[in-house]
Amino acid sequence: MLLLRNGTIITGDGKRVLEDHSLAIEGNRIIAIGRHLPAEGREAVDLAGDYLLPGLINHHAHGCTMGPLFASGSPPLSRAEVLANLDKQLQGGVTTVLNVDGFAAPEEVQVVNAWHPLTVKTATSHSPANIEAALAVDGRGLGAVHRQLTMAEMWEWGAVAVGEVGSGHTLGGGGQEYMYIPLRVREETGISLTPRQARRLKEAVLGRYLDVEKFDREGVDELLKEWGLEDKLTAEGAAELVRESVLPSLVPAREGIREAAIEARLLGAPLIVHNAAPTKELLQELARQGGTLVAAHSNHDSFTPGEALAQARHLRREGAIIDIATFDAFGARETTPAPEHFFAFLEYGQADLISTDYGGGKFDPPLVGVKAALERGLGFLPNLVAKLTSRVAQVFPRLAPERGVIEEGKIADLIVVSRQDVALVKQVYIGGKLVLGRR
Ligand SMILES: [Zn+2]
Repeated sequence: MLLLRNGTIITGDGKRVLEDHSLAIEGNRIIAIGRHLPAEGREAVDLAGDYLLPGLINHHAHGCTMGPLFASGSPPLSRAEVLANLDKQLQGGVTTVLNVDGFAAPEEVQVVNAWHPLTVKTATSHSPANIEAALAVDGRGLGAVHRQLTMAEMWEWGAVAVGEVGSGHTLGGGGQEYMYIPLRVREETGISLTPRQARRLKEAVLGRYLDVEKFDREGVDELLKEWGLEDKLTAEGAAELVRESVLPSLVPAREGIREAAIEARLLGAPLIVHNAAPTKELLQELARQGGTLVAAHSNHDSFTPGEALAQARHLRREGAIIDIATFDAFGARETTPAPEHFFAFLEYGQADLISTDYGGGKFDPPLVGVKAALERGLGFLPNLVAKLTSRVAQVFPRLAPERGVIEEGKIADLIVVSRQDVALVKQVYIGGKLVLGRR
């Protein structure tokens, strides 16, 4: 038996804060919460006023299984890289993570759960058009097992959602900017573009909505001059590299989203769809069809902040759930240069859930985003915590059952964070066991 004493409990329901409270754990459950719990026979930990929160439930992460990476079916990360991603999640206070690289097979999820204390669940996007979209971009991580599995089989096995359908890799977004466009340009010229350069080039060739009519030849010429590439590439040559990289997967990726939506409704599964400029209308169409639709990373900066908010309001009116992601907007800032979109959603009360997404591997922990928002006077802590705990558990009933709120009888997935610095995670308990930090 364990007693966590003198904590400030943020229950996770979005409202309650219990000052100067204690919490008793027996086995893997919370058995009592109160001001004066007896300490006899219990190992006691003094929290000295620090916050006690439900373990965070991150419903949108990549690279957390040994399965193919991204909607592009790219080769899996190494075991060491996967474990590093899981460690980073855990150090950020995440106790349950939903990996949304939708082609993972059951064994590739089970094995990481055997290696690491974090609870890792998976989503599924196993369907013909999604496989076709992956192969149009990459697909080197797809084996026979991944091509044969179906969403229905994965749902029966224990997948907790359908998705992520569409991605920056298959729909000309971040994945193209930090992986495939630079790869294509490097093959042709030997020169490495940064994600931001790749993005400027892509937008000069296709605009933000991926329209071939938007080709800005002078704009491309200027970029090539700016980067000293005018001897290596013509504007037309550069445009062709971008088109070859971005366009082949667009049609199957959109078809894959429709395929997944039909299957999700049949299964009664939540559906996670990549929400960005190239999928704007498609999400509106899906939202009208009902079911649980999660509009992923709705603060995507292929939209202007105003466009992103307008899209969110539209989708919410149709009953969709709005997710916002930290990306790497607070630290590395390589794929998402600034957190303005993230803040705008909190300022205007348009975010239902918060996740990390991947940010090219440099994603910021969720509480880093929460802390930055609080410093700007946006939202208040219990409400922000609910977007990472109880709200997530409600939207994805299979993801974190009996978790997401601090109540008697619930599973003891808990984190202790500093009262002075909410991004500082001091202890993590999963199923009542201390897995990070010291007593
Ligand atoms: Zn996405």
